[in-house]
Amino acid sequence: MTLTINTERLLRELDELARITDCPPTQDKSLPEPSRAVTRIVFTPRDLEARAWVKKLATAAGFTIREDAVGNMFLRWEGTDPGLGAVGTGSHTDAIPYAGMYDGTVGVLGALEAMRSLKESGFVPKRALETLVLTSEEPTRFGIGCIGSRLLGGVIDPEAADKMHDRLPETDATAPTGLTLADVRQAAGFHGTLASVKLPIGHYHAWVEVHIEQGPLLEREGVQLGIVTNIAAPASYRYTVEGFGGHAGALLMPDRRDALCAAAEMILSVERHARAANERSGSVDTVATVGMIGVHPGAVNSVPSRVTLMLDIRDTDVARRNSVMYAFHADIAELEQRRGVKVQEEIINADAPAKSSEHIIETVETICREEGVSYKKMVSRAYHDSSFVAAVAPVTMLFIPSRNGVSHRPDEYSTPESIVLGTRVLALALAKLANE
Ligand SMILES: [Zn+2]
Repeated sequence: MTLTINTERLLRELDELARITDCPPTQDKSLPEPSRAVTRIVFTPRDLEARAWVKKLATAAGFTIREDAVGNMFLRWEGTDPGLGAVGTGSHTDAIPYAGMYDGTVGVLGALEAMRSLKESGFVPKRALETLVLTSEEPTRFGIGCIGSRLLGGVIDPEAADKMHDRLPETDATAPTGLTLADVRQAAGFHGTLASVKLPIGHYHAWVEVHIEQGPLLEREGVQLGIVTNIAAPASYRYTVEGFGGHAGALLMPDRRDALCAAAEMILSVERHARAANERSGSVDTVATVGMIGVHPGAVNSVPSRVTLMLDIRDTDVARRNSVMYAFHADIAELEQRRGVKVQEEIINADAPAKSSEHIIETVETICREEGVSYKKMVSRAYHDSSFVAAVAPVTMLFIPSRNGVSHRPDEYSTPESIVLGTRVLALALAKLANE
């Protein structure tokens, strides 16, 4: 089989998809060329327009289309043995406000192009090939990301998911729309129970997602392709520290139970334990961040009585992440005693990290060697749809370089050469896996 990726078609389609945007044309002359601002929030008219456009491409290519209750879209090329598990690929087409044109879209249009070019080259798959367009990878509208893939992997409660509140950015928290995911998806034409979205184990024999790196490593090291070995998972927590406040002059030091001083100790504690976890394991994969803090009452002459803080902790190893939290909790208990404060913890989410399939990694490595493609094995620090597909299928991801490591901005950019190379390696991997 001689495989030719239709470069012109793929790049044209990426550009066409980028024009389906709710962003006003950018006047920002400081942005490097080419830059294109994309806003495409799930289930808005623009998102539905993009889906319809992708469907048209898939139909023209002769693939069948299935949409599930949350709007995940399956573009399927049937294999000669329909009883076998399929080989899946895909990503997302939704975009946060003022995003770029490559996040997610390279993984969707690249996947579609991979299937089309395989078909045009005369390849006949034994297993079916499927390109997925997954719903709401971005958390913009419902406050949680990867809704489609979470449901597909069965890692979110379907009933709770349907009750999630609609928070379109235009309608801030002071003016909620009052709608839920159930209302919004049904209005968009996606019916049925969310429980029906989960895929059985075995539906996919293998899964490979192409994505832009969204970090600087590949470009900096001059490497053409990243093969993802692990996808780190974030956990986030909200803490409320209750102390005792008062007048900054009158409340004397021995009588204080300053909530902000206690919070400061917590921030340093989690940093210390994350660093120690890395040192113990000789890794850099544990990262802990307190990026938001609220101080009550927030006056220069008032001792803080209540502080809220948000912690984001990520790791590729859930046991190591848990060990940091264990040590952190011990410190919190100690400082509650010593400082006379009360600390409440609320878990926002605690996702499991994903580990890629050794077999799929080896398959891709072999292809890279045969094709003379330079690659490196790497960790995905951000989570992706593949994190949740991993609950029901063996997965890996392929990263292509991002200019300056930039993403979620209009100047997000990957070169045509990188996009085509990622698509080509994907197509060859799909072909190999489909004939196993
Ligand atoms: Zn993405």
